[in-house]
Amino acid sequence: MPVKTVERANVAGQCWGVKRTMEMILSKKEKMNLLGTPIHNPEAVKQLETAGHKVIEDVKDATAGSTVVLSAHGAAKSVKKELSRKFNVLDTSCPLVDKVHLSALYRGKHGKTIIILGKSTHRETMGTIQELKDHKIPYVVVHSVDEIRKLTIADYALVQQTTSSLKLAEEIKRYVARERPDIEYVDTICQPTKDHQLAAEELSRRVDVMLVLGGNKSENNENLTLLCRGLTRKGAYQFEFPNQLRPEVHLAGFFAIGVTGGASTPLESIDQLVELIRLHGFRKV
Ligand code: SF4
Repeated sequence: MPVKTVERANVAGQCWGVKRTMEMILSKKEKMNLLGTPIHNPEAVKQLETAGHKVIEDVKDATAGSTVVLSAHGAAKSVKKELSRKFNVLDTSCPLVDKVHLSALYRGKHGKTIIILGKSTHRETMGTIQELKDHKIPYVVVHSVDEIRKLTIADYALVQQTTSSLKLAEEIKRYVARERPDIEYVDTICQPTKDHQLAAEELSRRVDVMLVLGGNKSENNENLTLLCRGLTRKGAYQFEFPNQLRPEVHLAGFFAIGVTGGASTPLESIDQLVELIRLHGFRKV
């Protein structure tokens, strides 16, 4: 019988932007209000709450003069300014999200309509949209090549939510290069997202099944799961906590298991999952 193996993707777990946010919050002694879940991972949020910080969904729930923390997803400058009138603001916006805002604003100010590849309900994209609205720059949010195909010819620049699917972005890039000289393609997917997706892709091609550990609300976990599902021999499963491993579903009948986790998943949790799988007779490679 072949040896049963478990392998973690070369790049997996919290990116430097998320680590930076965690460190910025955890280094403060003061108890602060985290405006919206700062990181799309329940374990990371629990760690912040255990340290005494409180997640609030609406700024109305913060008392004047207290500190409000803006998440790694970024926010428009107008929002930051408005908040700072009433509160101390700890801005943990990832610089790579700021880069999306700057890329879009620069091109918008030069007369281009901005195409955003992303989800209009995702906090990062909501911030980019607000920034464009504040500067009266026209924009459209798209999710597919087909939606871009329907756009009438005009002067566009296309940016992406930092956590977008690399596969979809490449498909769009090829379409734009081939058929739409009126669209400037600007690559704004962040390097950690690219590294996660490429590492997951490489591992998926060699295993029976991929287990993606991470928050259900995380865009990059969702993208990783979809990516892996199409490449492994038997599919991919996503769940939030190592103890949600169900050997009868996730391991039974498989010989090669791959494990990864998105940019918000603590690396320790991914390693815990690998150890749990090892206890079921899989050798770590
Ligand atoms: S996923 Fe990318 S943009 Fe988001 S926090 Fe991490 S490094 Fe920054």
